Amino acid sequence: MDSPAKTNLYGLDRPALEAWSEAREQPRFRAGQIYRWMYGRQRLDPNEWTDLPGALRERIVAEHVVETGQLAERLEASDGTIKYRVELPGSGSVESVYMVQDERVTLCISSQVGCALGCDFCMTARMGLVRHLTAGEILGQAAMIRDDRGLHERPFNIVFMGMGEPLHNYDAVLSAVRTLTDPEGFGLSRKRITVSTVGLVPAIDKLAAEPVRPRLAVSLNATTDEQRDALMPVNRRYPLAVLRESLRRYAQHTGDTFTFEYVMLAGVNDSDDDVRRLARLAHGLPVKINLIPFNEVPGELPYRSPSRDRVFAVRDALLGRNVRTSIRWSRGADARAACGQLALESGKHKPKREASS
Ligand code: SF4
Repeated sequence: MDSPAKTNLYGLDRPALEAWSEAREQPRFRAGQIYRWMYGRQRLDPNEWTDLPGALRERIVAEHVVETGQLAERLEASDGTIKYRVELPGSGSVESVYMVQDERVTLCISSQVGCALGCDFCMTARMGLVRHLTAGEILGQAAMIRDDRGLHERPFNIVFMGMGEPLHNYDAVLSAVRTLTDPEGFGLSRKRITVSTVGLVPAIDKLAAEPVRPRLAVSLNATTDEQRDALMPVNRRYPLAVLRESLRRYAQHTGDTFTFEYVMLAGVNDSDDDVRRLARLAHGLPVKINLIPFNEVPGELPYRSPSRDRVFAVRDALLGRNVRTSIRWSRGADARAACGQLALESGKHKPKREASS
């Protein structure tokens, strides 16, 4: 059994490993060796790190664990989507999802246990924020699914659209992004990584200055402040005009395009007036809209998904207004697809308020 005093090496990025090496009077290149074993080759047993001196390997085993977490539950849907519940090395569990569509593999990963943002249509919101994940716990989800699905030779996409608001856990998420994009780490192109935010304006400004930036997606879901205040409390702090202005700055500074994610709620945000206002919000921005018909959780959340005809009509109306738009149909509908559902059902995280209101 490992001593509880051992600290986890998994998740340390290059600068942290360099500091670790220096503190042990090791040459700087040791950091690169350990980095390549953990993230590039995904070998987590220090006894296998054969280019390290034996004494150092023994010391690592004595002082550290190298752990990503454990796949605690695995639900496979009929469309090939797999939803995982991951027990974290720290405490608690999160959800991660493997999706494949037209040969394109996407992993949806979590950045927090629970979430503090309180969006009204979200199951994860019911936990409140339990804690931020470490960079290692974030990377560990990708590493575990990569192993489980045998993705070592195959490029995949990562979307931070699981549990939590990634920009609320900014430092750990950006550290993970750097390791995911490092050619000696996971080696993914930055264009394969998308961070989805409710619109934390100071963090969007900060992200614009990052040398390694993921793609940005903004979870919009409403076309008036009144509507958005009710659905997403964050809007009271950063109303639509402020958010839109920060996105204009972001696009201007970075030259990047971004997406508006728009969860469609029948009778709430899918009217013809919403279409007109949505087109106006998109106007002049390098943005594409992803329409996401709501994933119903009967008995838990009061919202409904619009009919397929309505979803197509909204898409066509936006395209008719020259707004780049696509529909993202829910994947894994028969695998508790609503984010947070699996973790809540595991009984490890009690809802902070009663499910029925
Ligand atoms: S939708 Fe995202 S940001 Fe909003 S409460 Fe859920 S996890 Fe948090």
